[in-house]
Amino acid sequence: MAYAMVADKAGAAGVFKKREIEVGKPKKGEALIRHTAIGMNFIDVYQRSGLYPAPGGHPAILGCEGAGIVEALGSGVKGLKVGDRVAYTIPGGSYCSHRLITADRLVKIPKGVSDEVAAAVMLKGLTAHYLIHDCYRPKKDDTVLVHAAAGGVGLIVGQWLKDKGVNAIGTAGGSAKCKLAKAAGYSSMIDYKKDDFVAKTMRLTKKQGVAAVYDSVGKDTYPGSLEVLQNFGMFVAFGQSSGPASNFKMADLSAYGSLFMTRPTLFHYIAGDELHKRARQLFKMIADGKIKIQINQTYPLAKVATAHRDIEGRKTTGQTVLLP
Ligand code: NDP
Repeated sequence: MAYAMVADKAGAAGVFKKREIEVGKPKKGEALIRHTAIGMNFIDVYQRSGLYPAPGGHPAILGCEGAGIVEALGSGVKGLKVGDRVAYTIPGGSYCSHRLITADRLVKIPKGVSDEVAAAVMLKGLTAHYLIHDCYRPKKDDTVLVHAAAGGVGLIVGQWLKDKGVNAIGTAGGSAKCKLAKAAGYSSMIDYKKDDFVAKTMRLTKKQGVAAVYDSVGKDTYPGSLEVLQNFGMFVAFGQSSGPASNFKMADLSAYGSLFMTRPTLFHYIAGDELHKRARQLFKMIADGKIKIQINQTYPLAKVATAHRDIEGRKTTGQTVLLP
């Protein structure tokens, strides 16, 4: 029986209901896949709560990342066969046992990478990739600041920056999270629940500030993230786990040092063949052991409400995976 966790409307974590679904046969260019693992992301919370629209409207099957086995292929699909292990990230539709998906959005999972790891990194790992290669590409010995460093994206970014010889300062809520992120590769960690991250960043950089800030927290870290930037620094505002920074003003960019800013979204960075190019580099880093993926929480798919409460409640670290 194919099933999904369906949200009939936006709301709190209890909104999900388990329902049988009719999946149908793949049409031209599509694949039918049976999920083996589903990645959980903070964007799922925004889409569940109504901060972002649910992809495709309600009733909604949320979830933007997964891995599974190809069970059937529509006509015209090249490079895939029934039985292949594949992974993907697209907006919506993952909280289910089986789904149809446009086949050119599927990436074959290389040997040596488990389905759980692949499901956990398609959205978060590809995000880490474009953030540090395309939004702002730090040079060796540059110093940058990364908020929520112990989270899903944060732990991957920290390891990748370490590999590049970048001096990455991280922030996280609590000493256990700081320890975890430091062990993963951050050169210094700031517990921003306890310490003023602006003062501490300026101390750590001997008042020089940082070349870039990767900020996914939003409201609670604004405008502090601008205060720690060097003149002409780059403010990469890529999320809002504490809520949107509604006090942002364009004039702040000049006031804090002729700054640059970008507000990027993964899906623009993986259009067309960019998906496959980035995924190859990500999987190579994982296969070479340079990036270790920490799946620190797994839940049965039917318990997705608990997973939502935990990620919203700042209880999770690293990657979170749902098992159908
Ligand atoms: P995380 O695992 O990083 O979880 C979110 C973290 O945000 C929490 O663990 C918590 O860490 C921190 N946080 C700070 N304030 C709050 C708050 N008030 N409520 C809840 N959490 C808070 O999630 P992901 O790795 O899935 O995503 C990280 C961020 O990146 C999210 O904001 C997400 O939307 C964004 N993102 C953006 C993408 C893009 O392309 N623009 C793509 C992928 C992710 P702590 O306790 O240490 O503060």
